[in-house]
Amino acid sequence: MSEKFILALDQGTTSSRTLLVDSKGIIRGTSQMEFKQIYPKAGWVEHDPEEIWSTQWMTITKVMEEADITFSQIAGIGITNQRETSVVWDKISGKAIGNAIVWQDKRTAPICEQLKSKGLEDYVRENTGLVIDSYFSATKIRWMLDEVDGAQARAENGELLFGTIDTWLIWKLTGGKSHVTDFTNASRTMLFNISTLEWDANLLGHLNIPPAMLPAVKPSSGFFGFFQSDEVQVPICGVAGDQQSALFGQACLEEGMVKNTYGTGCFMLMNTGSKKVLSKNGLITTLACSTGDQVQYALEGSVFVAGSAIQWLRDGLKILKSAADSERMAEEVAGSEDVFVVPAFAGLGAPYWDMYARGAIFGITRDTSGAHLAKATLESMAYQTRDVIEAMAEDSGIKVKSLKVDGGAVVNNYLMQFQADILNVPVERPVVVETTAMGAAYLAGIYLQWWDSRIIVADRKIDREFIPLMDAGRRQTLYHKWQDAVKRTRGWTTT
Ligand code: ADP
Repeated sequence: MSEKFILALDQGTTSSRTLLVDSKGIIRGTSQMEFKQIYPKAGWVEHDPEEIWSTQWMTITKVMEEADITFSQIAGIGITNQRETSVVWDKISGKAIGNAIVWQDKRTAPICEQLKSKGLEDYVRENTGLVIDSYFSATKIRWMLDEVDGAQARAENGELLFGTIDTWLIWKLTGGKSHVTDFTNASRTMLFNISTLEWDANLLGHLNIPPAMLPAVKPSSGFFGFFQSDEVQVPICGVAGDQQSALFGQACLEEGMVKNTYGTGCFMLMNTGSKKVLSKNGLITTLACSTGDQVQYALEGSVFVAGSAIQWLRDGLKILKSAADSERMAEEVAGSEDVFVVPAFAGLGAPYWDMYARGAIFGITRDTSGAHLAKATLESMAYQTRDVIEAMAEDSGIKVKSLKVDGGAVVNNYLMQFQADILNVPVERPVVVETTAMGAAYLAGIYLQWWDSRIIVADRKIDREFIPLMDAGRRQTLYHKWQDAVKRTRGWTTT
């Protein structure tokens, strides 16, 4: 019999990718295509839904061509996707009524203000786990129904459908037969009640969104529909939003396990098991991947500027030739005078949520060099991570025992060692850093009964564990200085 594979689709903010995964969980092929970012106005970010689909489809065919296989060898499809980005389309023609509004898009801030003025903040937090923000899908749907001619009436007539990117891809893959999403994606819409696991009628009423537009919601590992090729039917059987998929791919399957992704920003998630923990410290509560009907919850905190501060050193200040240079430069001046960089370029995210903070550099002297700035900028990622972990520990009452890491910046050994030192917990870097796409592959493989969750844990090989080496006194002094530096950046501007 010919060998079988899983296709893991990873539809991200800047590119569509497909991984071919074999029955041992080994990645046997990858293909990636970037697509256009559309910026019609300041603060607006759009994607063309047809281009999202066409690039995704091209990566599927390319990866299969290269491996010389047909759909008869694909046992199942897993999908992970950029979260919150919203598409509305016509049920009959399948045509989108406009571009997808991307998670970063700020155009719906005024709609969020209206919801706040109705006194809905506590309700939204308690029932969706989120803060009212333009980031989430709800107000993006409202905007499309308001701004596209006749859209509200068509939606009320049952002619229009809404979906996050997973839903859109599944609709395309199934030829319009399945209009579905999973719990993790639904929990990012600001319309899903994470306690009752149903769309929240009260919020739909406040936003005047017809319930008929919304997809059916399923556990992340389950049956979402068939892709029909010329020869065979292939089940789509694993779906999760990117950060939850990474949490799963990192085998953070038990309460208290935490992963941090170091990319442009940092995204940290803690599995809180069956407990829905509501944050008092600026974190959000979200649904983690579920493989059965029993859902799991997670706490999430995002840092806006992490790896992008390294890009600023490279492209803005031109102190670095490449991001990788930052490691060598930091090592050169390790142990010398401490400079602090607070990269609050666009305010501060969790746990501060201060949009008026601005970036600053502290402790510079005549001897301060570019290398000191590189070191301090790397260290700012670690300090910001500690800020979020402290908030998670306080909210959940769980002491973090280790941190599992992924994302582009984790190749930096200086950063990883400093992270372990400043947290005083070991930092685990896995061999396979494709944790996001592998999360979707695992979810599909569990449905297919190829694997169970123990295999995910066993498969996760550690490349390197960074053990804390810093003495407690120095750790405390540095972290206090960091907190002091952050304090001095707060409320810097008024706009
Ligand atoms: P994203 O998915 O958000 O685009 P990636 O996970 O691809 O991000 O990571 C890219 C980020 O990591 C960039 O912001 C880059 O500056 C940073 N980065 C890449 N390599 C290094 C390195 N060796 N040291 C520090 N930062 C790095």
